[in-house]
Order: sequence, then structure tokens, then C-alpha cells
Amino acid sequence: MAGNRTFTMIKPDAVKNGHIGAILEKINSGGFRIVAMKYTKLSSEKAGEFYAVHKARPFYGELVEFMSSGPIVAAILEKDNAVEDFRTLIGATNPAEAAPGTIRALFATSIGENAVHGSDSDENASIEGSFHFAGTEIF
Ligand code: ADP
Repeated sequence: MAGNRTFTMIKPDAVKNGHIGAILEKINSGGFRIVAMKYTKLSSEKAGEFYAVHKARPFYGELVEFMSSGPIVAAILEKDNAVEDFRTLIGATNPAEAAPGTIRALFATSIGENAVHGSDSDENASIEGSFHFAGTEIF
């Protein structure tokens, strides 16, 4: 059965370019309820840990540097079928391939600096949510 929570980050490019408000509006109008949220910045150690699954990929160093380059907004979102529906709302990894109207089509600059993160499975949504939030920060 599909779970009802996913984890997202508004990445440093979208924060720097002033898109926090517009992206939160897309999240709200997409039917997601925000159950946890913080404005924070990842150290390069924390970014490396978060993306450890990509350690062998050629873009890992670039990804860690980018994700620790400035503040982010981290959030846990709730909706039926949250993981899949949020992946649909954000669009393909590469904004050039993202469907029109998706968050990445609207706000991403490149395949690396692609505005938002969205968990790819219920299991990862839970792991990633716990990475950023204590139980007392989730409502
Ligand atoms: P997604 O975030 O859509 O699940 P991946 O899990 O494949 O995509 O990759 C994680 C993140 O790594 C991407 O969101 C993007 O920021 C970065 N990334 C992926 N592919 C590339 C690439 N070819 N070059 C640079 N950065 C990349």
C-alpha cells in the first residue's frame, strides 16, 4: 500500500532565485499538507551523508558542493500516494525533460541545480524525514 508522506527540499538554487513562496504555493495547491518544515543549511558532511547512495556517481562531488552552498527549505509533506504524486508534481530530474507546469520545468536551472528534491520511495521518505526532523518537530 502506498504511504501518505514524502520528504522534500527546496534546493539552494531555488532559494537563491527567490522561488520559496512560489514552490510552497505549488505544494499547497497540489493538495499536500506540510507536517514539518525548516529553513536550514546542510554542512558538506551532512549533504554527503544525505546523498551517500550516489557516492559512486560522477556528479557526487558537485552535488554535495551544490547542496551545501546555501540555505534550503526541508519539509515533510502528507497526501494520499504522496511519493508518486509529488514526483509527478516536481517533474523529471532534468528540467529540459520535465513536463510543462511541473516545479522543475518552472524553476530549475539545470539537471544538477534542479530546484527541489522529492523522495523516490516510501522507505526513503521515512529515512530522509528522520534525517532532518525529530519526532517533536512533526505535526
Ligand atoms: P532525482 O532527484 O530526480 O531523484 P537522482 O536521484 O537521479 O534524481 O539524482 C539526485 C540528484 O543528483 C538530482 O536531483 C540532481 O540534483 C543531481 N544529479 C542527477 N543527475 C545529475 C547529472 N547528470 N549531473 C549533475 N547532477 C545530477
